Amino acid sequence: MQRYRCPSCDQEIFFRNTVCLACGSQLLFDPDKGFSDLAEAGHPCVNRPQINCNWSADEAGVLCLSCRHTTVVPDLSVPANIERWERIETAKRPLILMLHRLGLPLADRAGLSAPRFELKGETGDATAPRVLTGHAGGTITLNIAEADDAERERIRAEMNEPYRTLTGHLRHEVAHHYWDVLTDARPDRLDRLRAIFGDDRLDYGAALQAHYAEGAPPGWAGSHISAYATAHPWEDFAETWAHVFHLLDGLETAQAFGLIEPQDLPEGLEHLVREPMARLAGAWVELTIALNAVNEAMGHETFYPFVLAPPVVAKQEAIRSLIVEANSADDAAAPPSASALPQ
Ligand SMILES: [Zn+2]
Ligand SMILES: [Zn+2]
Ligand SMILES: [Zn+2]
Repeated sequence: MQRYRCPSCDQEIFFRNTVCLACGSQLLFDPDKGFSDLAEAGHPCVNRPQINCNWSADEAGVLCLSCRHTTVVPDLSVPANIERWERIETAKRPLILMLHRLGLPLADRAGLSAPRFELKGETGDATAPRVLTGHAGGTITLNIAEADDAERERIRAEMNEPYRTLTGHLRHEVAHHYWDVLTDARPDRLDRLRAIFGDDRLDYGAALQAHYAEGAPPGWAGSHISAYATAHPWEDFAETWAHVFHLLDGLETAQAFGLIEPQDLPEGLEHLVREPMARLAGAWVELTIALNAVNEAMGHETFYPFVLAPPVVAKQEAIRSLIVEANSADDAAAPPSASALPQ
C-alpha cells in the first residue's frame, strides 16, 4: 500500500477514509488518479452512504470499480450485516486496486466484472445448505461470519491455523479465479503450473477429504507455505499466490515508510513485481524478523508466522512471472484488462 495525503490540506490520510480528519474535506479515491476532494470532482460510488466506500464512480448513481465486483450483498434486514458488508468491502478495495495496478484482468470476455463476489450469511435454518467460502467459475463466495473478529478467531483456533484474516481469504480466493483465467486456452502455462504445483486433475473432493482426515504430511513446511497448501495443487497455488500478494503489499508499505533501503529494491508495486522472487523474499524475511520481534515486544501474536523454504520461493517465482507475463502487452490470449475499460 502507498501512503496518501489529503488533496486539500496535505495531511496524511488512511486509504479507507471518506473524510480528512484534519480539515474535514470529503475524500474521493480514483484507482488511477488517487485522492481528490469530492466537492471539486467526480461522482461518489453509490454505496458511499451505506458502507463508507470512498471510491469514485464513472457517473452519478453507479458503483465504483471495486463495489461492482460484488454481485450478492448480505441480507440487510439483519442490522449487523451492514457492518459486516462494510468490513469486507474495506478489505476488498485494496485487493481490487492491487489487481488493477498489476494489470490483471478485472473483466471477463463479455466485459462484465470478474471475479464476482457473493457475500452470504447463514440463515439460521438448520436445513439450509451451509455457506462455504470458496471459488467456482469466477464467483467467490465469502461467508460474512468471517467479518466478525471473534468468530474468525474461533475458527482459526479450531482449524489450528497460524493466520486467518479477510485480506488473506480474499487474496486466496482470487487466486483460484486467476488460475482459470490465465490458463484458459494456454496449455503452455497449464503445463508449467502443473510441473511446479502438481497435477490439478487429481480428484479435488477426495483430496480435501483426505486432507481433513489425515492432516498435512510430516515435513510439509519444507515444500509448502501452509498445511492447507498440501491438500491439492489448486490450494497450493492459491496459498502461495496469497503470499506473493502479502510480500508485494508488505514490501511496498514498508518502502513507503522508509523501512527498506532505496538501493535494496526498486520502489513501488509495479517495479517490485518485476524483481526476482529470491530478492523480494530476502528483503521480506529480513523485514519480518524485525516485525515479528516488535510484535512480540508488544505481546501480540507473531506478525508473519510462516517459513519461506526455497521450494516455496520457487513456487512464488512461478506465480510472480505468470503475473508479469499476463500483464505484458503481447499477451494476446488474455481478456481485456481493467485499464482497457472505460474510465
Ligand atoms: Zn485535509
Ligand atoms: Zn464502491
Ligand atoms: Zn482454496
